[in-house]
Order: sequence, then structure tokens, then C-alpha cells
Amino acid sequence: MGRQPLRRRVDNLPQVTYFKPAGIPLAHLQETRLSIEEAEAIRLKDIEGLAQGDCAQKMSVSRPTFARILLSVRRKMADALLNGKAIRIEGGNYEMAVRRFRCDNGHEWEVPFEVMIKEPPELCPTCSTPDIMVLRPWKPGCGMGGRGRRLRGG
Ligand SMILES: [Zn+2]
Repeated sequence: MGRQPLRRRVDNLPQVTYFKPAGIPLAHLQETRLSIEEAEAIRLKDIEGLAQGDCAQKMSVSRPTFARILLSVRRKMADALLNGKAIRIEGGNYEMAVRRFRCDNGHEWEVPFEVMIKEPPELCPTCSTPDIMVLRPWKPGCGMGGRGRRLRGG
């Protein structure tokens, strides 16, 4: 069995995940895809203005890896901007800094990144039911209210 690729730690999910240049017919529109961790890299470096070492630490990657992610995302954005491509932000190999879970009996709890990548929860810690779901932290207003991706069970 191959080693699982290491997951990058992400604090924030982008609220808008699709950008499209004006005036290009859909049939001619090319698309560039950024992963969630690539978006996180420019958020930390270019929006928050952190040093590369701090960014790497926050994302739980080495400095050279962070530099590589940053270079890749900047190249993609330049390509999209100057060549008139749409940008889609989705997917990748990441885990949230904190995940919030809820069981079928209404108990909610939080699981930090360090635990999620080693031992993601399978049971509710309060009532031990396996019917648990992860609540989506993105989409404010409808995320924390109980809608979420069901992990297992009916
Ligand atoms: Zn429970």
C-alpha cells in the first residue's frame, strides 16, 4: 500500500469559488483550477502578509513545500488573469484546522487538525452512536445549523 499524501492544514475556506472573465462565450472559456490549500497559501502570504516560514507552519508543511504551492498558485492566477481563463477553487488534499461534528442525538463536538489526520472520529464521544456527520464550516448562515455531509449510516 502506498503512503497517503500528507494533508495540509487549512483555517479558512474561500466563500466564492468561481471567477469568470467578462465577454468570453462559454464555449471558448478555459478554466484554471486552484485547490483549497493553494487558495489558503495566497490567503496567508498575500492577504494576511505572513512570512513564508509562518505560513508553512500554519499549513503544517515544510518551507520548500509551501514555496512550491505558492509558486504554483501564483502562476495559475497569472495565467487565468492574462489569458482570460475562469478560476475554479475546489478540492485538493487538506484538512480543516478544526472540524465540528454532530451525532444523530444532537451532541456536537470539535476535532482539531492533529487528531483528524491521525484518527478521525467514528463514534460520538458522548453517546457512542456511529451516526455522526461533519458540519460544514463554510457557507455562514446554513452551515452550523445542522446541515452537513453524512459520513455513514442512514
Ligand atoms: Zn451523541
